[in-house]
Amino acid sequence: MRARYGCVCFAVPKKLIQHLADRSGDEGHKQMLQAQITQSAAMRGTRASKTVAGVATNAGAKPLQRSVFDAAGQTFLPGKLLRDEDDPAGRDKDANEAYDNLGIALQFFSSVMGRNSVDNKGMRVDASVHYGFHFANAMWTGEQMVVGDGDGRAVKNLSGSLGILAHEFCHGVSQHLVPGGLGVVQVAGMPPALKGEAGALNESFSDVFASMIKQWHAGQDVKAADWLLGEDIFTPREGRAVRSLKEPGNTKLTWREDDQIRDYRQYKATDDAHRGSGIPNYAFYTAAAELEGKSWETLGQVWLKGFDQLRARSTFLDAAHATLNVAATLHGKGSGTHNAVKAGWKKVNVLA
Ligand SMILES: [Zn+2]
Repeated sequence: MRARYGCVCFAVPKKLIQHLADRSGDEGHKQMLQAQITQSAAMRGTRASKTVAGVATNAGAKPLQRSVFDAAGQTFLPGKLLRDEDDPAGRDKDANEAYDNLGIALQFFSSVMGRNSVDNKGMRVDASVHYGFHFANAMWTGEQMVVGDGDGRAVKNLSGSLGILAHEFCHGVSQHLVPGGLGVVQVAGMPPALKGEAGALNESFSDVFASMIKQWHAGQDVKAADWLLGEDIFTPREGRAVRSLKEPGNTKLTWREDDQIRDYRQYKATDDAHRGSGIPNYAFYTAAAELEGKSWETLGQVWLKGFDQLRARSTFLDAAHATLNVAATLHGKGSGTHNAVKAGWKKVNVLA
């Protein structure tokens, strides 16, 4: 199936790459990161179009369908096939890590959410590792996963980060969940971008489900979980994580210029999607903390079915109503789940 738009999200936001470039004392390194910001903007506008030779088409017969490719430091996609589904692990550590992490995300949606791959039709998930030169990012292009090796200084190789790969994988899921893409705005001559409350909801969907995937994989309840994403990609002096769902915008837990918000009263329509996503993230965290236990067991279904009802221009309030309705339908009005979801959206002041 062809995506209707190109890449809208990079795992490491532009603002964070710029921050790393500003902090770099090495002129060559600084310029390389700045070039990646420019390159990333151009990539958003280019839809990946490819015909993959030598691998099965998207048959959907098996529960897991993965193919990992080697972009070999280039930007042509997908690159050379390294490992297909059921192939044994090869010598490329990054390819094996990407294969394993994509497998965890696929398995989570299959066994916990009852969803067959990103499109719910068993689409084979392709990933290209070693993309670009010292590329400090990962993304879902609208059709496949692309993973860089990191810049060799501030950002480590991203293939090994389950949270980062799961976040990008979930952009594929929401792309198929919401026709036209949740908050995806396309203006002629401009790359597609995530805008407004719907765009923030799109980012939040990826954060919330990536966080759940991490917790599910580790067998952690809401108290034991760290609720961080990208806690494993920085070298220590550059930061601790990309985002915190438990404490959005707490720079002590994340990085120095993290400006995520968690209160709707602070939200402006012009806010970047990664800033505003702290609001629904914190609503989810609050609901999960209120319910206790394991986030994916009841709340995960409520969130997925709620977001399934959203449209391209839905608002935070739409998401609140949708998740509340699903909680009432599945668990009853006034149930613990219903009350927890309500408490979550109240805490962030989306509901009065
Ligand atoms: Zn994203």
